[in-house]
Amino acid sequence: MVVVGAGIHGAGVAQAAAAAGHSVLLLERNAIAAGTSSRSSKLIHGGLRYLESGHLHLVRESLHERSLLLRLAPELVQLRRFHVPIYANTRRRPWQLCVGLSLYALLAGFRRGAGWGSLPRRRWQQLDGLSTDGLQKVYYYHDAQTDDRALTRAVVRSAQNLGARLECPACFVSATLGERDVEVCYVTGENGAHSVPRTCRARVLINAAGPWAEALARSIAPAISVPAVECVQGSHLLLPVELRHGCYYLESPRDGRAVFALPWHGQLMIGTTETRFRGEPAEVAPAAAEVHYLLGVLEHYFPRWRTLGPSDVSGSFAGLRVLPRGHGHAFHRSRETLLVVDRAHRPRVLSIYGGKLTTWRAVAARALQRVASSLPARRALARTDRLALVPAEGDG
Ligand SMILES: Cc1cc2nc3c(=O)[nH]c(=O)nc-3n(C[C@H](O)[C@H](O)[C@H](O)COP(=O)(O)OP(=O)(O)OC[C@H]3O[C@@H](n4cnc5c(N)ncnc54)[C@H](O)[C@@H]3O)c2cc1C
Repeated sequence: MVVVGAGIHGAGVAQAAAAAGHSVLLLERNAIAAGTSSRSSKLIHGGLRYLESGHLHLVRESLHERSLLLRLAPELVQLRRFHVPIYANTRRRPWQLCVGLSLYALLAGFRRGAGWGSLPRRRWQQLDGLSTDGLQKVYYYHDAQTDDRALTRAVVRSAQNLGARLECPACFVSATLGERDVEVCYVTGENGAHSVPRTCRARVLINAAGPWAEALARSIAPAISVPAVECVQGSHLLLPVELRHGCYYLESPRDGRAVFALPWHGQLMIGTTETRFRGEPAEVAPAAAEVHYLLGVLEHYFPRWRTLGPSDVSGSFAGLRVLPRGHGHAFHRSRETLLVVDRAHRPRVLSIYGGKLTTWRAVAARALQRVASSLPARRALARTDRLALVPAEGDG
């Protein structure tokens, strides 16, 4: 199997295929987690907000994966307390939060991290200077935080321990489909004089190129079907102030969208936005309007930081969600991962579009199942729901 892209999905499929006993080559043109998998909100979460859009299956699967990762990767995935303040003018009312959080706990199977409640008024003063003007309730619940890049590196390391081979830098160029296999052309080495063209044959090609997946699918001959998808940009800011009492799930006063304020390596990280993106994915960067939007949310909820302006931003990054193309607001569109094969029986190519960091293992297992009819019988070496993940050196 050739897997293109060492983001969380490519890493996951490489691990699953190697664990199933297959021979795997993982190609990455830049660095492990160079794409969206180092630019996420870094949450391993069920996604409370996906309850609103009715994606119960996704929330249940994500909560199951969260509980598994808390066990398999305790150094990389940790439970955090989230606070949800409800003011007189907050769109989501206290009863809605109660219903949502009860359902969240139910879908989590009342396992570790399912506890939630409301914080007594006397403890509101301990919430990092959260505005109490018009504050009616503060709910808390739990979700998990990770270092997305470190998690992806740990999954690649696990795949390598099972025999997968990583080539990096190695850039996929094109593929030609035969009746029973695929010829893959790629170049290794840095761009320019040192690059070396190579070819290899594989039973299956996995297109896990994230925001580049659509372009990659179009470089396959004969042409395969490509779903209607588009990229939506999400930005985060880092600010040199500290959140000492947990994470905050805030509702943007401007449009009601959910915005997270999170502690991150001694700083505050706030995000995300959702802006349609057209262009070269490598060039995605936070726009000035997004910086103002996020600083506006922070100032609204934490008046003590109202003096922070764009020049105080100590770091920022943007990533791209691949979503089904549509007219409605990106916020309401499906976050389910789309797995697309070139043909139902004996597929030669499987492309992964969209998805969540949280569900990488479950998605990888599904992807492997979809291409199983094209792969030779092998004796499995391990089960991915039992493989511990440990940080690579320097990621601890
Ligand atoms: C702003 C934002 C916040 C998010 N927050 C969360 C969150 O908190 N929790 C959560 O569960 N999910 C979150 N997600 C979703 C999650 O981050 C993504 O679904 C996931 O990281 C996508 O991983 P991927 O492997 O599909 O793509 P990527 O991580 O983008 O990986 C694709 C890789 O392919 C490589 N590549 C591309 N073309 C080639 C080529 N020709 N040859 C070789 N290599 C190539 C790229 O260099 C890249 O490394 C968020 C997404 C965004 C955009």
